[in-house]
Amino acid sequence: MVDVRDPSSPRFAPIAGRDPEAVSRPVAIVWPCPLPVGAYVAAGREVEVPRPVCPSCSGPLVFWSGYWRHIRAAGRCRKMFVPRLRCAPCRVSHALLPAFVLAWRLDAAETVGTVIGEVAGGAGGVRPAAARAGVPHTTARGWVRRFTGRGSELGVAFAALAVDLGGEAVRPPAGAGRFALAAITAAFDAALALPGWLAVGRWRFASAVSGGRLLAANTVSPWFVVGERRFMPPVPSAPP
Ligand SMILES: [Zn+2]
Repeated sequence: MVDVRDPSSPRFAPIAGRDPEAVSRPVAIVWPCPLPVGAYVAAGREVEVPRPVCPSCSGPLVFWSGYWRHIRAAGRCRKMFVPRLRCAPCRVSHALLPAFVLAWRLDAAETVGTVIGEVAGGAGGVRPAAARAGVPHTTARGWVRRFTGRGSELGVAFAALAVDLGGEAVRPPAGAGRFALAAITAAFDAALALPGWLAVGRWRFASAVSGGRLLAANTVSPWFVVGERRFMPPVPSAPP
């Protein structure tokens, strides 16, 4: 069976000869990747990624190995490379995930977001949305349940982010899922005033600012600290 879990979890095995402490608390950094999933996959290990600073100490990170995981998009399941970066002073390694990846999820953020948008938005049921997206009904149902279950806190966090980015205050519609959707949209609309986010898109934006944890059970997300904007802004791509 394919292990669809993101190996940034502690089950990731340390590389022989390295200090095991270094991978005992791996942390994922999500970057606002505008590449189509297919282009990222096709680049393999050669994929061009940004090199962020350490989220803990702001020191330089160095590329340090990486791993392969699966991603399903447009009905195809493929392997993609995830680079790993390491901060020497903190002795912590960070997986560098493109924003089309959601932690612990096989499916791309757009697929997940499209289903959630349809169902939590009230446009239709899970079954037809899952069929259109080409994912199992039970998988889609799990996404929607988690999203609506966390809807209130997601709504509050994204609504605050929207205001922080200079956007409109969100008037919460009835229902936690709709509130979260409205807040994500408001925050994304506000982010469009900044360079780069248009090419990234709404669901990758939601993934990026939540550190890939949009649908994670863990409700503590440092990426939502308002006023600090701890998420990574998109880098306008340089002309070839
Ligand atoms: Zn550090």
